[in-house]
Amino acid sequence: MDFFKENAPAGPDSWEKLLADCGGCMKCELGRTRHNLVFGVGSRTADVMFIGEGPGEQEDLKGEPFVGPAGKLLDVMLELIGLDRTQVYIANIVKCRPPRNRDPLPDEQAACIGWLERQIDLVQPKILVFLGRIAAMAFIKPDFRITKEHGQWFDVQGRRAMAMYHPSALLRDPSKRPETFVDMKTLRQEIDSLYD
Ligand code: SF4
Repeated sequence: MDFFKENAPAGPDSWEKLLADCGGCMKCELGRTRHNLVFGVGSRTADVMFIGEGPGEQEDLKGEPFVGPAGKLLDVMLELIGLDRTQVYIANIVKCRPPRNRDPLPDEQAACIGWLERQIDLVQPKILVFLGRIAAMAFIKPDFRITKEHGQWFDVQGRRAMAMYHPSALLRDPSKRPETFVDMKTLRQEIDSLYD
């Protein structure tokens, strides 16, 4: 997506440069109400990167993605396929909490997503997993239908990519969990195929 280029560094990028550039970001209104910027967490050499839409209350307070109830469920989902959060990288489309956990607005996404793009460039994951509709719409296609297209593989910037329900959606509607179990198994197969 072209708006990623807005945040492209002039020279070779590094985690130090990215953290310095992003750390005090006030490029959109969400910066005014945050307690903490929620940068991202996990292995900087992960093969798999999980991308959600934005921090919630607990994440905002702790400065870490997926640490509330949805984060605990994500941990369970990872455990199902023999992973934990130290083996993957986890980040969000926007790094500051939208008020009352509303969806991040298009201009907020556009302002922020370049930071995430730089994280992807540094991690170089082989597989991208988008958690929820908002992240899938930003990266896979604007008309992405999470109910119909979760668990399917797409190509995103030359990487294997799939979307699954956001853990918050699974907390609200546990009837969706069996579908996500299947999606996680599909992800495990794809990870295994990396090493065949
Ligand atoms: S949401 Fe992103 S662009 Fe907006 S202030 Fe926070 S870090 Fe900056």
